[in-house]
Amino acid sequence: MLDLAAASATIPATDTPVAAGAAPVTVAYGDGIGPEIMAASLRIMMAAGARLAIEEVRLGEALYREGHSAGIPPEAWDSLRRTRTFFKGPITTPQGGGVKSLNVTIRKTLGLFANVRPCAAYAPAIATRHPGMDVVIVRENEEDLYAGIEHRQTDEVYQCLKIISRPGCERIVRYAFDYARANGRKKVSCFTKDNIMKLTDGLFRRVFDEIGAEYPDIEQENMIVDIGAARLADSPERFDVIVMPNLYGDILSDIAAQITGSVGLGASANIGEYGAMFEAIHGSAPDLAGQDVANPSGLLLAGVQMLVHLGQGDVAERIHNGWAATIEAGIHTADIFRPGLSREKVGTRAFADAVIARLGEKPQHLPAADLKAARPIALVRPQRAEPAEKRLVGVDIFVQSMLSPDELAQRLLTATNGLVELAMITNRGVKVWPQGMPETFCTDHWRCRFQPKPGKQFNKAMQLDLLGRLNMAGIDWIKTEQLYLFDGEPGYSMGQGQ
Ligand code: NAD
Repeated sequence: MLDLAAASATIPATDTPVAAGAAPVTVAYGDGIGPEIMAASLRIMMAAGARLAIEEVRLGEALYREGHSAGIPPEAWDSLRRTRTFFKGPITTPQGGGVKSLNVTIRKTLGLFANVRPCAAYAPAIATRHPGMDVVIVRENEEDLYAGIEHRQTDEVYQCLKIISRPGCERIVRYAFDYARANGRKKVSCFTKDNIMKLTDGLFRRVFDEIGAEYPDIEQENMIVDIGAARLADSPERFDVIVMPNLYGDILSDIAAQITGSVGLGASANIGEYGAMFEAIHGSAPDLAGQDVANPSGLLLAGVQMLVHLGQGDVAERIHNGWAATIEAGIHTADIFRPGLSREKVGTRAFADAVIARLGEKPQHLPAADLKAARPIALVRPQRAEPAEKRLVGVDIFVQSMLSPDELAQRLLTATNGLVELAMITNRGVKVWPQGMPETFCTDHWRCRFQPKPGKQFNKAMQLDLLGRLNMAGIDWIKTEQLYLFDGEPGYSMGQGQ
């Protein structure tokens, strides 16, 4: 078993003398293998000359147990507000109710809108089917289905809101292009499902095209996420930087990391206006904890991203190249050790020693990093556009009912008594009235679209009147969505098949 006290004795403590010009950084060792890989990573970083003033905070499983619902105590927030830079070991998320995701809480609280995951293969040193792969996934981190706004609406139907905002799209898309430019990347691809979600994903794609026009030096392409994902898994060499909304980015960045050959090497940066967080993509691997066998590379490469962010590109380059030289020399932890390919199987501490011994070297076959001049990406705050001219032209009223489409339509027509027109009823987005198909399976959740009679205006007073009449008729309406035109353009989907 690893002697954790010995492991942490080698790390710079908070009261270690700090180099002049050192960057303040909050460090959490985390759970499971966290303390071992953090100790190894910090030891390499300090040996390479990193100028860090470390504030250590407690985080994770023990804090959850102490009753902090997101696993983070108030003093850690104080430190993060001071340092604005977080180097985080993996944590164990307890199973069960009442527990909030620590990562989601930190991302949302600090507004870390960009998740940047470089996914590169290190062939021939590490076995992979995609030796030429060198992709960076830039994932939007705050919006989409991760807003966490969910409702059960009827006995049968549950809903999760997908929220996409123009400023959110602008920030992430601009970040992706600026990242590409700053890192000598040639192409940015955008994955969406805008053929189905024309308003939400359609906005993301439109913003990609608009902002892309400001970067004529960078090749650009749009792909539907399903075909994009298939190509990424099959021939990742054809991609360079890929920008995506949150959910697609979450899934595809894991796939991309996996096909590089080892998830243990994956690092990620979470960047925002008020702070940044750097971590390995893997979890706390409790099965390996305390055995001095875990691979510290993912966390170390996150440290490399952090040093670039802190303007210490020279140190970042020295570490990356020393690390690549170690990997290339076949000095491998158990997770990437392959007989015939690897030369020596080492533990976490010995791996760190091997990297430290190679600081100042460059890899012979793997590409050497050139990070001396690398700088953090300057973030551009999106400009607010002039508000559009907004006109109310109707309302979708969602109703719970076990009636058939024709029976429900009849009740709605009787209740509203000619106040407005019932334009259509859909069930799970499929039009079932008028002229529905008898084969359509219907749930207890109906969208009923009301619009004014020809030549008449619609307003919120009419909507309230309408809801009152439905109430009086005992119709169980469960939510409404106003139908607006924005500068004459419909701000709502037109219904299936239109
Ligand atoms: P995991 O990533 O911890 O482990 C998956 C597999 O990969 C295991 O076999 C593990 O031994 C191996 N592995 C992971 N990191 C390794 C490393 N550095 N070196 C060698 N092998 C490594 O995923 P899991 O088992 O699903 O999750 C364990 C815990 O981690 C859970 O509580 C989960 O919630 C948490 N988790 C935390 C984070 C985070 O803090 N960012 C991310 C993912 C999972």
